[in-house]
Amino acid sequence: MKGKITFVGAGPGAEDLITIRGKKALEEADLIVYAGSLVNEKLLDVNPSARKCSSASLSFEEILARMLEAYRAGKKVVRLHTGDPAMYGAVAEQYRELDRLGVPYEVVPGVSSVFAAAAALKTEFTMPGITQTAILTRAAGRTPVPEAEELSKLAAHGTTLCLFLSVGDMKSVTDALLAAGRSPATPAAVVYRAGWENEKIIRGTISDIADRVKEASVKRQAMIVIGEVLARSGEMSSLYNRNFAHGYRKRNAFSGSTAVFALTREGALKGAEIAAGLDSRIILPQKLSHLVSRERVVTYPDGGFQEAFRKAWESCDGLVMVMSSGIVVRMCAELCRHKSADPAVVVTDEEGNHAISLLSGHLGGANRLARDVASITNGTPVLTTASDVRGIMAFDEMASRHALRVVNPEAIVQLASAVLEGKKIDLILPEELYRRYYADSPQYSLVSSPGENPAVVLLENGEEPRSCKIPVLYLKRKRFALGIGCRRNAELSQVEEVAEKAMEAAGTDWSAIAVIGTAELKLDEPAILQMAFAHSIPVTGYSAEELNRIEVPDPSPAAMEKLGIRSVSEAAAILASGGGRLAVRKIKGCGATAALAEMQQNEK
Ligand code: SAH
Repeated sequence: MKGKITFVGAGPGAEDLITIRGKKALEEADLIVYAGSLVNEKLLDVNPSARKCSSASLSFEEILARMLEAYRAGKKVVRLHTGDPAMYGAVAEQYRELDRLGVPYEVVPGVSSVFAAAAALKTEFTMPGITQTAILTRAAGRTPVPEAEELSKLAAHGTTLCLFLSVGDMKSVTDALLAAGRSPATPAAVVYRAGWENEKIIRGTISDIADRVKEASVKRQAMIVIGEVLARSGEMSSLYNRNFAHGYRKRNAFSGSTAVFALTREGALKGAEIAAGLDSRIILPQKLSHLVSRERVVTYPDGGFQEAFRKAWESCDGLVMVMSSGIVVRMCAELCRHKSADPAVVVTDEEGNHAISLLSGHLGGANRLARDVASITNGTPVLTTASDVRGIMAFDEMASRHALRVVNPEAIVQLASAVLEGKKIDLILPEELYRRYYADSPQYSLVSSPGENPAVVLLENGEEPRSCKIPVLYLKRKRFALGIGCRRNAELSQVEEVAEKAMEAAGTDWSAIAVIGTAELKLDEPAILQMAFAHSIPVTGYSAEELNRIEVPDPSPAAMEKLGIRSVSEAAAILASGGGRLAVRKIKGCGATAALAEMQQNEK
């Protein structure tokens, strides 16, 4: 029986900065060959029975001979390197020799001292407005540095510089930096034994760091970091800027509740990536559930796919299926009712190359969901609804984006075919919407009252649709934002009851609610989520700070005491309405409160 050889990065020294995988390899090892003085020998204590051998006094051939001997005797060998083996680890020649001999091995990464130093300094090497690059290098020592990489050349870029193996000759380092044109006032720091208990941090500038290091008598085991980032005056990173569209932080266009399904291992892994991006559940057969975080996964017994799909169909606004479209088409076929009721269904392959909007493209939002999925996987959204292909905004899609309700869904198809037939269409819409979506095409005209042409009409408050022979698609504004506050684990029926009381007070019902607002920390409240799902209304949460900025007529001492929030329902309603007028002041129910604010009419 053959053994096993594992190269392990031990981390910067502290016993608890090795990786879990690295520690496990140490625990299982029969022989540990470690890099002498730099590795913390306390790390070896996890495995008292293993044979240990310091490589400090051994030649390359001797080290390799020991490892091979143990390996051939069926033993598990760990070669323990400091930090991460990839930086000055002298592992390349070991890998090469093992490759030549056809001996397999594994490599477990470690926390490099360069990152332990950053942690000690509480700095980031890359800061917007300062530099987006860190150079990891060393001053020339016994090992020469190629001429093109001389410090005086690298330093000229103005990036953050991290120097390994160089603290012994600080003077030549700072001379080289000055020769490269770096200002003497550039911040500099030296971290001795980063992560160890006797860690030491010396801060200064290029002009005085050498003297300070000398005073502190630091001569080895230290990382030098140079650069303006140490002054900590960078700009705000755009990664966390609310309006910055970037990878997962990009705001998703689809606003309803979603679930992701997959049936294979590869599918589950891709599905987990999509579910994280959408912040949705992933629904998997039992046998795959271990692949995904317990927080996200919902499992069904093997063989229960159809049943799980049927449940999700009923309870979700959007389904993302990581599998072949044939499977999905067959499943949907049994359940499809009408485009105004069916959930959005998007199919994608295991690599996420294509996100196909399969069902409920406009009204249900599958086109948007397909775009969201494609942007998460870096794939291509595949849209086949005719108006998307022509680059015209479909009316039901426009309605759903702007919190408008389609009064007569049966007219959607008539209007869509009129568009495709090239007929003139009259629009009675806010000018803003017309300009945004339709003004570019001569097929559409903005008019003040319906005439001979098929038309789309946004009804004013209280105005009713007129019956006529020409197809007219009627839209109504969802007039209100519903603000909800409730105690933890409030009953769905109680929350719904108080919400409906508020609507009654305004003489309206669920069809007029554009959005539900609540406190950010209530975004996981089951009753609020279930209510929102049931009525297909998006939910938005606001932080205590945002809520407290809003003046309200009925502040709640209880909420102030429990959550530090002056008012949840009234303030959240006003915020969700875009700053609209409070139409129904706070109504108190059992364990829940509700308020309504009028949606501001400026289109997003
Ligand atoms: N592979 C290691 C580096 C090995 S070279 C890693 O990734 O960290 C050895 C050099 O690493 C030392 O001269 C010193 O510059 C740096 N070093 C290693 N451990 C360190 C520690 N705990 N604190 C600061 N520098 C350290």
